Amino acid sequence: MTAEITVLSPHDGTSVGTLPCASEDDVRGAVAAARAASRAWARTSPEERGTILRTAADALAEHAEELAALNTQETGKLPDEARGGVEAGVGTLRQYAELGPVHRGHSLRGSALAGDWTVAEPRGVVAAVTPWNDPVAVAAGLLGAALVTGNTVVHKPSERCPHTGARLGEVLSAALPRDVLITVTGGPDTGRALTRLPDLDVVAHVGSSATGEAIARAAVETGVHVIRENGGNDPLVIDDDVDPSWAAEQAAIGAFTNAGQICTSVERIYVHRGIAEPFLEALAGQARSRNTDGSLAPLVDHRMREEVHRHVTEALDRGATALEGARIPDGAGSSYPATVLRDCTDDMLVMSEETFGPVAPVLVVESFDEGLRRAAEDRYGLAATVLTGRISHAQQAIAELEVGTVKVNNVFGGAPGGAAQPRRASGDGFGYGPELLDEMTQVKVVHVEMPPV
Ligand code: NAD
Repeated sequence: MTAEITVLSPHDGTSVGTLPCASEDDVRGAVAAARAASRAWARTSPEERGTILRTAADALAEHAEELAALNTQETGKLPDEARGGVEAGVGTLRQYAELGPVHRGHSLRGSALAGDWTVAEPRGVVAAVTPWNDPVAVAAGLLGAALVTGNTVVHKPSERCPHTGARLGEVLSAALPRDVLITVTGGPDTGRALTRLPDLDVVAHVGSSATGEAIARAAVETGVHVIRENGGNDPLVIDDDVDPSWAAEQAAIGAFTNAGQICTSVERIYVHRGIAEPFLEALAGQARSRNTDGSLAPLVDHRMREEVHRHVTEALDRGATALEGARIPDGAGSSYPATVLRDCTDDMLVMSEETFGPVAPVLVVESFDEGLRRAAEDRYGLAATVLTGRISHAQQAIAELEVGTVKVNNVFGGAPGGAAQPRRASGDGFGYGPELLDEMTQVKVVHVEMPPV
């Protein structure tokens, strides 16, 4: 019997629907079909691939409401944010449709009669394995960059939003030649079967660090090129010269947006003793208002809620104090309240591990230096934010934090098209931006000279 995934609504626990899990044979067949389609697609001119991708982006724009609604049903993402995620996906596809044809190489001149240049060639077949927390935007980035550079793709969306992933595949692939994009649904077993196949050229994984590490280990045997954009444990370091209410707003946006289910959510907070008390009071107020005004998304499912509550309970058992939240509410669905914990220590799970929920754990520090030092002692290396009015402290943070992105005075700051290289347990390679075009291609060096005359 074929295995199935049933998705339950995070809002009320009712069934959203059931889809089959692709078996090992299914994924092998999908990769073989993508391989068969890859030669013709690689030989399609970059300009034509860009035009086709633009048509696919237009098709996604036409289905934006439908995909956003599916995402909200499956993952609980707030409707406006789900719509924003699809719009971001459309924007990314359009960006790659423009960038693909102008993705260029280098040339050198060894002598007047010789030429040396580089050609960026498609790698072949890409397996894209994606998460649920921004399923359309994240998938659109990987698919757009892979397709426009001439690769064919087998996409496995998350088992937590398989209907969103399957529908995204239908909408995009209708605009593409047959088998250039194939979507397979399923859970970790399907992902494992897919990413271990020897006949792949790239595995691009966005998801948890544990999965990324398993994929990287398997890749040592298959030799596939791996791009990993994985988990984070992002610190927020707050200096004593900033307005504590503004700092609390920043902390709340960072920790509670999408109920804390963002890779670059604020995961741990180091606040200077000089403003700690008004900051904590204001942050608890921010949490309280989200817990009463209905603006907080639910967690994706009960499994996630149990994990988040396990981290919170461990902190409370070890001496942290809850200023707000920290209790599982009654009723169906998988909601969890915005939670503020004080008196945390670095060895608690809420501080040392990614807690994928609306939890703001706080540790009071005696100096900005101490905050930075604690922020830097971590196995993850995704991003970090500091709030300070002092240029010297901002410079110190930029120099000392070993992360892919350092943000000063805005927890979700960043320019459009931005990309970063995550470090250590947070992954490897560029998963976004123009640099993703480099990841999806391999460079051939050409040397040409005249025969002797
Ligand atoms: P996950 O790794 O559990 O799942 C992601 C995908 O990997 C899913 O499609 C899943 O089925 C598949 N998968 C699971 N186990 C696998 C295995 N052994 N082999 C192959 N595939 C497997 O992650 P998730 O829970 O869906 O997503 C949340 C995580 O993703 C968080 O850690 C978050 O920080 C991270 N994330 C990172 C970024 C980034 O850009 N750095 C962006 C979004 C999410």
